[in-house]
Amino acid sequence: MIIEPRTVKLTTRTGVDVYRTLPHRDRKMVGAWCFVDMFGPTPQHDAMVVAAHPHTGLQTATWLLSGAVEHRDSEGSVQMLVPGDLNLMTAGHGISHSELALVGTEDVLHAVQLWIALPDDSRHQPPHFENYTNLPSVELPGARIRVFAGELMGVTSPAATYSPLVGAEIRLEAGATVQLPVRSDFEYGVVVVSGHVSTTENVPERAIDVIPAGVNSITVSAETDAIVLLLGGEPFPDKILMWWNFIGRTHAEIVEARQQWNDRSDRFGQFEDRIGGWIPAPDLPNVVLAPR
Ligand code: MN
Repeated sequence: MIIEPRTVKLTTRTGVDVYRTLPHRDRKMVGAWCFVDMFGPTPQHDAMVVAAHPHTGLQTATWLLSGAVEHRDSEGSVQMLVPGDLNLMTAGHGISHSELALVGTEDVLHAVQLWIALPDDSRHQPPHFENYTNLPSVELPGARIRVFAGELMGVTSPAATYSPLVGAEIRLEAGATVQLPVRSDFEYGVVVVSGHVSTTENVPERAIDVIPAGVNSITVSAETDAIVLLLGGEPFPDKILMWWNFIGRTHAEIVEARQQWNDRSDRFGQFEDRIGGWIPAPDLPNVVLAPR
């Protein structure tokens, strides 16, 4: 199933558009992967100025193709995000962070942000942030695979994740085809970051091809040079409630997290950055939110 991206305006100082494939009306998650946003490529100077905002119940995995972004969070992290590194923030019970594209480091910002829902037994853990460099890779004819989460083709990412899943970047040369051995108990998403790519069908740029569990291999072909992300995981066992930047299980949890953020409660900590200010949570809709 191909899901085409839709554009969404981020709450930032620059009003930048992002391209979102998950969550989608017809498909909420692929394994624990529950959010896929692509930024750019766009000039770095108006790319990303996202002031302090909170998260609960999820991990954010930020993957850059080009450019640089400064991450700061309420655990005291100050990290320059650069291409090839995995930046993994585990919100657990609650964290706040900001993201600032750095002018003058490179001309173009091109990035993907993914969210990973935390299962019940790890979603209340204390927050933490890690930057992983020198991720393991696999070289194939015409292709290079970097595994940033879980295991693929015998190589395993050191990243701390909390449910059975995999995430990998695949760079293909024009004309290359790779056949990836995959777990038949996982469902998968093939995200085309750039290039002319096909699986069993043509997958447009910035779209995701969602492949249900039950296959032993996935074939990816590139007509042009291409960058693809492979995301996969065991079908997520819980119904989740995603609202704004929070993932919970009940309406009451979301109401509480929203109020605590807007009250600047200790739950989400404090930090200084060069952006200043913070993004208040919007009003809740006038209905009881239900997990699904
Ligand atoms: Mn965020």
